[in-house]
Amino acid sequence: MRDVDLIVHGVDWLITMDSDRRIYRDGALAVAGDIIVEVGKSDAIMQRYQAKRLLSGHRTVVLPGLVDGHLHSSFQMSRGLADDVGSQEFLFGRMYPYEAALSSEDSYLSALLCAVNCIRHGVTCFIDPGNYHPEQTAKAVAEAGIRAVVAKSSMDIAHSSFGTLPPRFQETTESALTTGLDVVKQFHNSHNGRIRASLSFRGVNNCTDDLIQKMKECADQAGVLIQAHACFAKETRDASMRQHGLPEIERLHSIGVLGSNLLLVHCGWLSPKEPELLREFDVKVVACASSSLHNAYGNILMGSIPELLEMGVAVSVGSDHACSGIVDLPTEMFMLSSAYKEVRLDPKVLPPERLLEMATLNGAACALWQNEIGSLEAGKKADISLFSTDSSDWLPLYNPVSNMVYSAPGATASTVIVAGAVVMEKGKISTVDEQAIYEAVLERQPHILEATGLTASVAPKWPVI
Ligand SMILES: [Zn+2]
Repeated sequence: MRDVDLIVHGVDWLITMDSDRRIYRDGALAVAGDIIVEVGKSDAIMQRYQAKRLLSGHRTVVLPGLVDGHLHSSFQMSRGLADDVGSQEFLFGRMYPYEAALSSEDSYLSALLCAVNCIRHGVTCFIDPGNYHPEQTAKAVAEAGIRAVVAKSSMDIAHSSFGTLPPRFQETTESALTTGLDVVKQFHNSHNGRIRASLSFRGVNNCTDDLIQKMKECADQAGVLIQAHACFAKETRDASMRQHGLPEIERLHSIGVLGSNLLLVHCGWLSPKEPELLREFDVKVVACASSSLHNAYGNILMGSIPELLEMGVAVSVGSDHACSGIVDLPTEMFMLSSAYKEVRLDPKVLPPERLLEMATLNGAACALWQNEIGSLEAGKKADISLFSTDSSDWLPLYNPVSNMVYSAPGATASTVIVAGAVVMEKGKISTVDEQAIYEAVLERQPHILEATGLTASVAPKWPVI
């Protein structure tokens, strides 16, 4: 008998996401430190190992911890601030003013709320596209016990044909580059390797060629991810055509920055040449259904996600932000799959197996973390999400892959393990004081709303007595 730290045993359905996509009935995992030692049938694992701690997987479906490919931790306090607006008003009239109004403490609180939300929905890792207090994102994520890729948001064109940045965001090329790189130096591979850092030229139309090229060089040298929002609305494509005479990804190709460490978010409005460019340069992509559906960006209607996947592009799923409502990766999978079926009039497009691959293996690939997370296999990090099937959302349960994508909300996550540590057990989060966070959010929200200047825009339209 070998001693290990943790065994999860008696799992009704253990979905490994290994190369054969094996699913174990009555499955088990043995964990030593932060590493999975073995995955197999319960009786075999229990015969070979003795653990300091045993967790029952009875009436659960177990998955690799889900990876949210795109989640703005700084937007978690913005729910309801940007309803029913298009892309330009969304960014320049609502979200940038909101973000510019956040204090360092607000950003920390937003990231804490975001991390709690991740745990509650079975998400153990997320990629933050960058904000102005990335040290607070790192601090909150580290305390909550999950993983994230953090970044400093960098943009050096204050007035683009897409819109004008708030004064607080306006930076020179030099400062955008230096402060972005400082975050990489300070946080990459920090907190026992649970925090990684990336560079972010956050919106392509508000960044000069010079900044993007220099950032790509730095990302290559540091061996880190570089990311940007691209092609997420007709307006972003049209702005790129006006400014550069090229659509966004063709412009990035023309300045030589496409590559396998580049993550482009949305990629809904692609020119005929751009899918092949993404494939040729192994660019990573994140699809975010709920934000497109909520603000009518057209990423599903105009999108090519099924084709990109078919071509072998690593496309993950992202929940984007709370200002489009839900931040629930399992429901996001349902929305992406169902929205494509609807607009294509094709029930076979994006089946549930593909969505689970996007939320695990492809998410890990988009974070450049695929050697350590994304599947439940010996040698990988022990990031494990248990979903309780003792729920009307899960029953009957003929096929757990189908139910995970089409019926089960993320909130059915009951126990979550990150790097071998149990961060939530049977619905109780052990790393942070969840109630204290909720109290703090309620206390801060009127101040944030006032500072944002959106009080009149977001008040209920019906009489409040
Ligand atoms: Zn975004």
